[in-house]
Amino acid sequence: MTNTIRLALVLAVSVVALPHAQTTTAAPSATKRHVEMLAGDALEGRLAGSPGEKLAADYLVKELQRIGAKPLPASTDFQMPFDFTAGSKDGGSTITVTREGGAPKAFATRAEVQALSFSDNGEISGPIVFAGYGLVVPDSQNFGYDSYQGLDVKDKIVLVLRYFPEDADQQTRATLARYSDLRYKAQAARQRGAKALVVVTGPRSPNAGEVVPMSFDTALAGSGLVAASASGAVANAIFAATPDKTLEAVQKELDGGNPHVAGFAIPALTVTVKAAVERQRQTGHNVIAYLPATTPTDAIKKPWVVIGAHYDHLGRGSAGGSLATKEQAGQIHHGADDNASGTSAVLAIAETLATQPRKRNLIVAFWSAEELGLIGSNAFVTNPPVPTTEMAAYLNFDMVGRSSDNKLTVQATGTSAIWPKMLEQANIAAGFDLTLQEDPYQPTDVGSFNQASVACLAFFTGAHADYHKPSDTADKINYEDLDRIVTFASGITRRLLDLDDAPSFTKVDQKTESGGGRAGLRIFTGTIPDYATEVKGLLLGGVIGGGPAEQAGLQKGDVIVEIAGQSIANIYDYTYALELLKIGQPAKVIYLRNGERRETTLTPAARK
Ligand SMILES: [Zn+2]
Repeated sequence: MTNTIRLALVLAVSVVALPHAQTTTAAPSATKRHVEMLAGDALEGRLAGSPGEKLAADYLVKELQRIGAKPLPASTDFQMPFDFTAGSKDGGSTITVTREGGAPKAFATRAEVQALSFSDNGEISGPIVFAGYGLVVPDSQNFGYDSYQGLDVKDKIVLVLRYFPEDADQQTRATLARYSDLRYKAQAARQRGAKALVVVTGPRSPNAGEVVPMSFDTALAGSGLVAASASGAVANAIFAATPDKTLEAVQKELDGGNPHVAGFAIPALTVTVKAAVERQRQTGHNVIAYLPATTPTDAIKKPWVVIGAHYDHLGRGSAGGSLATKEQAGQIHHGADDNASGTSAVLAIAETLATQPRKRNLIVAFWSAEELGLIGSNAFVTNPPVPTTEMAAYLNFDMVGRSSDNKLTVQATGTSAIWPKMLEQANIAAGFDLTLQEDPYQPTDVGSFNQASVACLAFFTGAHADYHKPSDTADKINYEDLDRIVTFASGITRRLLDLDDAPSFTKVDQKTESGGGRAGLRIFTGTIPDYATEVKGLLLGGVIGGGPAEQAGLQKGDVIVEIAGQSIANIYDYTYALELLKIGQPAKVIYLRNGERRETTLTPAARK
């Protein structure tokens, strides 16, 4: 599972290590061998695009061949590659400082200048304005702090300090810290017409004078601004043009947190910022096979059923999402429950059904790059090998290995009227203490299929203390119950393969939205961003039924480029722009539909 929501879940449940039912079973477990293989050290935590992911994919292909599954029609291979942004590195950024009548001073080493990971590639030359910490607290916070007050930065380069005032009282620091993210500072600069942003770590701050290391960033598009971090030496060369001021003295004045300490233009100086970011594209691999119908009939509607699980995990946690303790940092994140358990369940269900007759085709899918934002399953539904309208249902298995007290949760049951009764009937034999949740807006691959209007279910045994930590290991899996889940879900899948009528899809109205940053906690717009596609603006993967975005007439495929006067270059801009919205107050939205520029009004609601 992706981190956003589960983290909250982990924090919300009391994390007591529950004893597992480890009684000896007569038959050997159908899933244990797979979990031990996938969660083993050799696979290095199965990070999407890594050698460990390839080893896992190879294992899955062998298992699929063993049970007699076939590559999809029109395909000769089980592995379906897709590209994604795995990180960024500097591609040769430079800063040149030229005083009027003086010789240019060039800085070009990585210790002196580095592009910020979200920078546009480009070169900007012009005057530079010092804007303090570059912090802007939205009016909605009633706090009154704007580093740009009284400054004209239009078409200029802005120089700001990293972090936030060092000596301010705790309350002030807590407020300003929320707006000190460099993306937020970049957006504030761009909204005021700046052409470039230079960030320096002040002499009074931690990491004084050091450049900001290029961070892991899965953003596909730049932020619409040239942005770089510079060393103390670069800052000193710039401040040399203001003989009455030093950076340290100016920082000291700002560090009290007084909002009236003003920035200033630096006279008689031309600065050239060239930012070069190499976004590292990587290839992930979905592993997809199918079991063809044994008794196909033309009469059957929607002749495909899909079962799936993501098989990628966090590697050693370097790509984000890790909840490792300090002592565990850098260790292999085994991902036995997340999601060797679901992967094993899908293999075992496929093996069970392979020898049984069926009217529909069964697609057996293993997704990669789920942990980076549902990228694999999104790639699949965006370019489906068979039309999604031909898919009768999708069943997802993510974290199904930690059942305790006989509990099993099935989510997304609101996506079809058929589910509650079908689950109830299947559970007569299975006997789980079953919890049904209608909500399909889950931080797991079921979200991709719900957006594609496929009736779906997600099986889940709950969050636990080892979630996204190296300690999510194979020995902690409750195999007995995992195998019972396989039996239960095999029965449901069998019924779906043979039903004459396909389940009809129901769009679930939703009062909360998944994902979202700081503003997501407060404001509800009902938009579902598409994280996987490269586009300038915010591409909507869908809208939440009954939500403000749907009421505003927005729909899947629309690209939001401006909201409430804030231009939107990417998902981060959007998250920040939400902070400026007021609940119940209509905001103008400019968006592109099929390339055509349109306008509507969206009224944000309060998050429930
Ligand atoms: Zn996860």
